[in-house]
Amino acid sequence: MLSRSLKRTLLPAILLLAVVLLVLSTRPRLYSFQGEVMGTTYNVSYVASLFSHPQAEVSRAVHAALADVDQRMSTYKPDSELMRFNRSPVGQPFPISADIVELVDEARAISELSGGAYDITVGPLVNLWGFGPEEKPGNGSTEALVNAPEFVQWLDSQYPGQVPDQAAIDQARAKVGYQSLGSNPDDSTLTRDKALFVDLSSIAKGYGVDQAADALRGLGIADFMVEVGGEVMVQGVKPNGKPWRLAVIGPEMGKSGVSALVEPIDKALATSGDYLNFFEVDGKRYSHTINPLTGWPEAKRVAEVAVIADTTARADALATMFMVLGDEEGLKLANRLGIAARFAYYTDDGFATVTSEAFKPYIVPQG
Ligand code: FAD
Repeated sequence: MLSRSLKRTLLPAILLLAVVLLVLSTRPRLYSFQGEVMGTTYNVSYVASLFSHPQAEVSRAVHAALADVDQRMSTYKPDSELMRFNRSPVGQPFPISADIVELVDEARAISELSGGAYDITVGPLVNLWGFGPEEKPGNGSTEALVNAPEFVQWLDSQYPGQVPDQAAIDQARAKVGYQSLGSNPDDSTLTRDKALFVDLSSIAKGYGVDQAADALRGLGIADFMVEVGGEVMVQGVKPNGKPWRLAVIGPEMGKSGVSALVEPIDKALATSGDYLNFFEVDGKRYSHTINPLTGWPEAKRVAEVAVIADTTARADALATMFMVLGDEEGLKLANRLGIAARFAYYTDDGFATVTSEAFKPYIVPQG
């Protein structure tokens, strides 16, 4: 039994300890975790107090959301919903998940906005130029690729890349055209009016970020940053109460290794560039952004586009669209529609950048 005097001595210490534990357990802290999905990596940071959101539970929920999008919308998984649609009979409505119908409708609106410069039915051209799943051995994952027996031959066939002949380009182009992709939200079906190959690579990675963000919100987490392969959604603030600050890593890296710092409060940032996924033949660069109207990889002077929008899916698709439109036509469209876009383009002696009016408020001045 503790004596009265000992209790009197210990009580303040116990109370102080209880207060300290209470403060520690309620103080916001930063948690982070990473993973692999969609042939790329993802990073999540979120703010929670000590016991409020066990990291194992949070990372399970986020990975499940991303894996679901990967499984249903990948062109690298032969059994994905999208690939089963791409093999479905022409002219017959194909029942598909409602969110894929919504993405197709969003993509069609961006196709119409861009006069067809953005078009998710570009798949046959993407595959012909060697940037799609059909060219890669293995099941699409990086690990399967490098371990595939035919990896070396594939590598030779890719680098330097093959420039297809014009007849093959024309043949592939005949299978492209968003106008031949029907969607019906009422019965959640898509219909191919000709032998289309829908490729959602330009929008579904961003959609995966949005789904992961929803998984965090579903757990009651309000302050977070989710990044998948360079597409990012931020919400709320960091533990110090300051906004999430993102680096636009562009081809024209500044001295600090970044080309711009932005604070897109409760919005998404997506970038597309011609310097990450390309091959060169005789000094000419062929990137994975294909102009559906010509059938050739777009070769305007733009090197990278960064877009800030309300959803990551939209930012992702708009960034690809602007890569095809180029900085001059793209900037005019961005300013006319109030889209936040930043263009980095090649000049004779390096790079230059232009930003739309709507992008400027997000930029953090660099000292
Ligand atoms: P973005 O500019 O966002 O997209 C460029 C891509 O869009 C091109 O690669 C092409 O597919 C398509 N595209 C090109 N031109 C146009 C155009 N004019 N209009 C519309 N679309 C166009 N990669 C792997 O190596 N292994 C995988 O297992 C794998 N799984 C994936 C699963 C999913 C669900 C998704 C969405 C992608 C997956 N990828 C995989 C593809 C890889 O992630 C892509 O390289 C990436 O999505 C392209 O994003 P980006 O930001 O690099 O370029």
